Amino acid sequence: MKQYGFYFDSERCTGCKTCELACKDYKDLGTEVNFRRIYEYAGGNWVQDNEGCFRQDVFAYYMSISCNHCEDPACTKVCPTGAMHKNADGFVVVNEETCIGCRYCHMACPYDAPQYDAQKGHMTKCDGCYSRVKEGQKPICVEACPLRALDFAPIEELRAKYGEQASIAPLPPAEFTKPNLVVKPNKHARPSGDTTGFLANPREV
Ligand code: SF4
Ligand code: SF4
Ligand code: SF4
Repeated sequence: MKQYGFYFDSERCTGCKTCELACKDYKDLGTEVNFRRIYEYAGGNWVQDNEGCFRQDVFAYYMSISCNHCEDPACTKVCPTGAMHKNADGFVVVNEETCIGCRYCHMACPYDAPQYDAQKGHMTKCDGCYSRVKEGQKPICVEACPLRALDFAPIEELRAKYGEQASIAPLPPAEFTKPNLVVKPNKHARPSGDTTGFLANPREV
């Protein structure tokens, strides 16, 4: 099986949300459902240096995240019906016919990827645009990014090209679910678990 994954360049992302909106349009999602979300992580303060002068060390950056089609998905383990599953092509998808909408997968996923659709009465989620991938195309979110901050390819290719790092704050540590994700940190990026910053746009994600 060829396992695909995402690449995210946090040096390039401007937080414009074109990726999120392109996905919403392509997947015809309502206002409350976002398969891709943009976290804004910010922090810093005034600090006094050795000479008594006050300087600021504020920072802010963005993280665009969808489902990571993880190696060790937390969502599938808690699903009581088997609706949430990793398919033969390595995409973690939900069978909308058998999902009962209990939301256990949403509670288990540390990336908030499974999204409850109130109109449908069950979970929905990023499917990696596998029907496009099957035709040799990239996912819509990747193609839409005007800054070319996203990429999608077999994960081994991405790791060979961009490295192995799979998390920065505010994402959880990668060992929880082994996400198929490569992240290029920016110069202000804080490690997962950082407590010096905060999520600046909680109502958007
Ligand atoms: S990101 Fe969440 S929903 Fe996607 S495979 Fe991983 S644990 Fe499951
Ligand atoms: S891969 Fe497709 S479904 Fe997933 S976030 Fe991107 S556009 Fe949306
Ligand atoms: S479209 Fe690109 S630059 Fe804009 S928020 Fe998404 S990843 Fe960032």
